[in-house]
Amino acid sequence: GAERKRKKKGLKKLTFEQIGGQDNAKQELREALDFLIKHEEIRQLGIRPIKGILLTGPPGTGKTLMAKAAAHYTDSVFVASSGSEFVEMYVGVGAGRVRELFRDARNRAAKENKQSAIIFIDEIDVIGGKREGGQQREYDQTLNQLLTEMDGIYSSDSPRILLIAATNRKEMLDSALLRPGRFDRHIQVDLPDKKGRKHILELHAQNKPLHAEANLEKIAEESFGFSGAQLESVMNEAAIYAMREGLQEIEQRHLSMSIDKVMMGERTDRESTL
Ligand code: ATP
Repeated sequence: GAERKRKKKGLKKLTFEQIGGQDNAKQELREALDFLIKHEEIRQLGIRPIKGILLTGPPGTGKTLMAKAAAHYTDSVFVASSGSEFVEMYVGVGAGRVRELFRDARNRAAKENKQSAIIFIDEIDVIGGKREGGQQREYDQTLNQLLTEMDGIYSSDSPRILLIAATNRKEMLDSALLRPGRFDRHIQVDLPDKKGRKHILELHAQNKPLHAEANLEKIAEESFGFSGAQLESVMNEAAIYAMREGLQEIEQRHLSMSIDKVMMGERTDRESTL
């Protein structure tokens, strides 16, 4: 199940151009990735290679998209996973899965003839949370295995492996993960500003017929505080409103109604979890 899902996720090619806003984050990430590409120069200068990049920020801001684009940019195989996939009742299973993940990345790189592999772990806080007090041993073993794999990354040169992890709770992470030589690059992926929101709306409007008078600038203004994922929903809901009315094009009022709908949806979600 998880294995197939990982493979499926890795199939679609995604570039930085398809990520709206996030100019700083994209720039910082590309700079870090250049270290992976220019590994010969890095080695000659004796620079410590980057093993891990931590993407931090609220949900739905494009952290997964960034990791996928990173794989495309560096011509690496992409292997994705989530911290919750490593949580198991039985001691040792999580650690085994970590080992499997790295093995999978190496095998795929060999099979696809790639020089490098990017391993993405979403929700890293689930396995990399602070190890204080009487926490479960299972978590310890899984985290230890991850640290072991990270430490071993440069014992073999081919393929080169880069770990990208995402969390929206950086303060929860165990300090062992944040030490130099582990996740020592941190990139903040924030909620988009107005310009970013407009860019994201435009990207998600590309395959949708917008009415000539639809004004995405205004929608960007009205959607203050929305994440990329919410903006994607706004475009999608607007298309559904248009369809319900039997129209061929999305009009401004459909977009405005969708903003309210997405905002309300969030509110009821939150209330139901309180
Ligand atoms: P989470 O922390 O919840 O896993 P995330 O930060 O990894 O979220 P993604 O999974 O990358 O977020 O984004 C979810 C979806 O939202 C994307 O598939 C895309 O449709 C849309 N999206 C989010 N951010 C952007 C963006 N910056 N540009 C374009 N689309 C975006």
